[in-house]
Amino acid sequence: MDGTALAARIRADVAREVEQLGHVGLATVLVGDDPASHVYISGKHKAATEARIEARDIRLPDDVSEADVLALVAELNADDGVDGILVQLPLPGQIDETRVTYAVAPHKDVDGFHPVNAGNLYLGTPLHVPATPAGCMRLLAEHGIDPAGKEAVVIGRSEIVGRPAAMLLLQANATVTICHSRTADLGAEVRRADILVAAVGRPGIVTADMVKPGAAVLDVGLTRTDEGIRGDVDPGVADVAGHLTPMPGGTGPMTIALLLESAVRAARYRRGILAYPTL
Ligand code: NAP
Repeated sequence: MDGTALAARIRADVAREVEQLGHVGLATVLVGDDPASHVYISGKHKAATEARIEARDIRLPDDVSEADVLALVAELNADDGVDGILVQLPLPGQIDETRVTYAVAPHKDVDGFHPVNAGNLYLGTPLHVPATPAGCMRLLAEHGIDPAGKEAVVIGRSEIVGRPAAMLLLQANATVTICHSRTADLGAEVRRADILVAAVGRPGIVTADMVKPGAAVLDVGLTRTDEGIRGDVDPGVADVAGHLTPMPGGTGPMTIALLLESAVRAARYRRGILAYPTL
């Protein structure tokens, strides 16, 4: 399942929508010097700019106070030129991530991390959904894989990937199992999966003997090693799976594309084009 190609199409659609809307503003906030965060923010920024989204690249020093970050978020919430706000996680230790996440106005929370957005996802009426699991669902749809009636297994239960992926699969009528570090027999759970989402961050944790022949496998885990970027899925799984995302070039580019879609959705909501009563 080629994420690069599908993401390029989605980004082109986003660019067309931005043109129709006239203006879409996205503010990204990066605190400190975490090298991985720098790479992620640069990628998101480049993609946003290419899609003609006005991307504001706000960078704060590592020792910035929580009060200053909250003041900035309040300013961006009130800024009419900003449709979407993204605060790159993780934040340095002196800043309470939960407090900052809660401070972003839910309708501008393009990451979908605010509890109002997480709650609406739980209720089946989401506005903003975390981009990585949303990208997984789009890859499945693109390949004609309807989760309805299928066994879906998600490995990982983070608020960013595992839980929202499970919710989206449930909403799409799959029978969903969520695995985590305390799951007693990971192999036995995973072997039932017609659809598998691996979001752990342990290279090669999913091996070929764990995968049902013909299963659709979405590799989200991403670990930088001396040999390059490795996914959670062992390369041998390619011989068994019916569909598999490459690493890199699978779920990663989709995450960025779906984030841009989220910015457009935020802009449509703010202009009253997208009616959404529950925020
Ligand atoms: P996280 O918060 O560290 O969550 C990892 C999850 O894996 C936890 O729920 C953990 O269980 C579970 N886990 C750990 N060891 C396990 C084991 N041996 N067996 C089964 N489950 C195990 O990470 P995250 O933020 O969800 O990210 C997961 C991975 O996806 C990371 O590698 C991250 O870099 C990558 N990622 C990729 C993209 C993309 O665009 N492709 C986007 C976001 C994240 P417990 O809850 O019990 O600890």
